[in-house]
Amino acid sequence: MTEKEVWAYLEEVFDPEVPVLTVVDLGVIRAVKIEEDLCSILITPTYSGCPAMKVIEEDIISKLAEKGISKVKVDLTLSPAWSTDWISENGRNKLREYGIAPPENEVDKSVLFAEPTVVPCPLCKSRNTKMVSQFGSTACKAHYQCIDCLEPFDYFKCLK
Ligand SMILES: [Zn+2]
Repeated sequence: MTEKEVWAYLEEVFDPEVPVLTVVDLGVIRAVKIEEDLCSILITPTYSGCPAMKVIEEDIISKLAEKGISKVKVDLTLSPAWSTDWISENGRNKLREYGIAPPENEVDKSVLFAEPTVVPCPLCKSRNTKMVSQFGSTACKAHYQCIDCLEPFDYFKCLK
């Protein structure tokens, strides 16, 4: 077993919130370390208290067990905090294809000013969109609708 192999196996572990993204796309895997027969994986939660993290941890352990790696240790690190900037370019493209607006690369000022972020429509790219609800299909997403083409879509937010 090599670190490279483990990274490749992790590409088969999908995020429970957004099933098109792997945990590698999402950028939550911070480090993979192999010491003798122990595989240690360091992950950073997308936001503290995200219930999906427990699922991700279990999915990583069962995926590696499936590949014959039984001694796996998953540790969490909260610093530096996960940011949507860590989502890979590949991951952003997959989000768009899936019809979810990828996170904007800017500080989410909505937290400070209580105004929803302007999120471009994944279908027609219009910025004329409105937030329909703070929470979409899961707590990590907000529900938006495009005013121009009327497309409803989820915005992946994950507040810290
Ligand atoms: Zn639109």
